[in-house]
Amino acid sequence: MQALRQFYLSRYYKKSMYGLLGLGFVGAMLLISTKIRRQQQKQKSLDHLQSNELSTQGTIFNSLDKCSLSNLNQVRTLKTSIKLEIDFKQQIIQGRVILTMKAINDIVKVQLDAKMLNVLQVKVNNEDTTFNYRQQLVQELGDQLEITTQKQANEEFQIEIIYQTQQNVHNGQVALNWLQPSQTFGNKHPFLFTQSEAIYARSLFPCQDSPSIKSTFDIELTVPEPLKAYGSGILVKETKDGNNNTFYFNQPVAIPAYLFAICAGDLEKKQISDRTYVIAEPALVNKCSQEFQDMESYLQAIENYLTPYKWSQYTVVVLPKAFPFGGMENPNLTFLSPSLIVGDKSETSVVIHEMIHSWSGNSMTCQNWECFWLNEGITTFIENKIVGRIFGQNQQTLHGLLGDNSLKNSINNYGPTHTYTSLSPKIDQQNPDDCFSAIPYQKGCQYLRFLESLIGENLFQQFIRLVVSQYTLNSDQFKALLEKFLNENNISGIDIQWQSWIIDPGMPKNQLNIDQQFKDRYETLANNLYESQLQLEDFQNLHSNEKCYILDLLGNKQITEKLMKDLEEEYQLFDSNNPEILHRVLIYGINCGYKVALGDKLSQFLSMNGRMKFINPVYRALAQKQPELGLRIFNMYKNSYHSIAVAQIQKMFQK
Ligand SMILES: [Zn+2]
Repeated sequence: MQALRQFYLSRYYKKSMYGLLGLGFVGAMLLISTKIRRQQQKQKSLDHLQSNELSTQGTIFNSLDKCSLSNLNQVRTLKTSIKLEIDFKQQIIQGRVILTMKAINDIVKVQLDAKMLNVLQVKVNNEDTTFNYRQQLVQELGDQLEITTQKQANEEFQIEIIYQTQQNVHNGQVALNWLQPSQTFGNKHPFLFTQSEAIYARSLFPCQDSPSIKSTFDIELTVPEPLKAYGSGILVKETKDGNNNTFYFNQPVAIPAYLFAICAGDLEKKQISDRTYVIAEPALVNKCSQEFQDMESYLQAIENYLTPYKWSQYTVVVLPKAFPFGGMENPNLTFLSPSLIVGDKSETSVVIHEMIHSWSGNSMTCQNWECFWLNEGITTFIENKIVGRIFGQNQQTLHGLLGDNSLKNSINNYGPTHTYTSLSPKIDQQNPDDCFSAIPYQKGCQYLRFLESLIGENLFQQFIRLVVSQYTLNSDQFKALLEKFLNENNISGIDIQWQSWIIDPGMPKNQLNIDQQFKDRYETLANNLYESQLQLEDFQNLHSNEKCYILDLLGNKQITEKLMKDLEEEYQLFDSNNPEILHRVLIYGINCGYKVALGDKLSQFLSMNGRMKFINPVYRALAQKQPELGLRIFNMYKNSYHSIAVAQIQKMFQK
């Protein structure tokens, strides 16, 4: 019954009906009714659209965000009420979303972003209304739902949309990631998580999918017993109805659509402090709460540098390995990779980073993806400060140097003149995922460190507090804010080097200023490791960041079979449980054809990890040195990776 309903109401059905209407025009004349007239009008505009489809590429839909197909300049979402019934058997979601919107000027239509949705019904202020669902209006950005409605400037109204997500979306990049029980730690129940950043919220519900538009949220999630569901807000209540559990969340702070997130599965929640919580599968939850037991002190250190935390609770969810990132800062529901659970808290800087996003990114949000550095560069800058305050100067310096190494690698991968190596990359109707790299994080962070060196730490802290108090920002607004701040503090005669840092591509001209003694110490350790002169015990006593930095320094030398053998046998690095270390060693091994790095250890690593930070560079090395082997392994495991990761890795083997 449900499958039938899905067919009749799907847009494919509508399309074929339009065709029939065209053929049976005479018959239709006899049966003229309001309903058919409306359908013919729809057909007309659809034909018009289809004939114009080719010319849509390059059309500007708004002046705020080239990655959104919504008329953002004309209408804004104020509130989103979303109700989702999660059907694990069919792997679809039945959704209803009510958008409370306000017209900015007189409008005749509302255009929303969408992607691979079956829209069944649209109402404006409770009345059925006509709509067009334009599939793949711009290939990289997805679909557009256009709703006809006349509203006057400043008028508020509600759009209600009933829809479903599509089944079997394996090749398209969407937010939903359905996992089989075998892909979870517990092996018993299915799992679902979403990843909306950058432009995938539109595949969860029709919306204004741009960071420039923020709304409050009411979230209602229904899952079958005994599973639990969580949404990016504060839990208000939960109810049980037959075999279903329903959870209600409220997000009172206005957030952009890309921060909307849900997860569902066999999950357990543990309280860590008054306001911090950990959620994970039962098999993992104790380990996770130990790894993250210091979250309260991190939060306090960040509050000391910035301002009080305004989201009341801070909750992390440790997801199954298919999660493609280290972390995702969904408000009240930070998602984390299980790769962070290494047993010695050495990877917790990722949690600090995600916490800081509560200010930079979630509170102050970049206006569009061309100024993504405002989210990530500012967050990475503050992360570096907090790492110093919590773990000491040595760790702070290492943290910066490792970041600098990842910046150099990313610039190398694109080539130094590529627009994606600029902090103002040109992303014109392209998927912003393509330019996702360490560059906005590390180059952005280094720019802020450069500015701090010009005006002093205390004054710069005040400026950062001012920045995170903004609602949204683009790069020009950031510059204006900085100039105003400098003016008000009577600082003149300094060169902020805007063009070379923010506009120009490639490595920044000013390099990190690192103490020579510090450098010498690690150079010596790296030389000793290279010569196999470093005692195993001394090596093991190093922090994992120190090990990673030393391993990076080896990259300046010739990687030989003998070195790989030492790393394997003497230093046991192929047995490391820390993927930060293991992926570095595997890449060296792949590059020099070391057998162990091309065998079971490699295969096991790529089956156990789904985080792009680790698997992407390993696949990149394989694509260059061992493409056949790489493709064979990729085909074996790609169904366990997130679609974002699959799309990126596929491109490496197409080159
Ligand atoms: Zn981040």
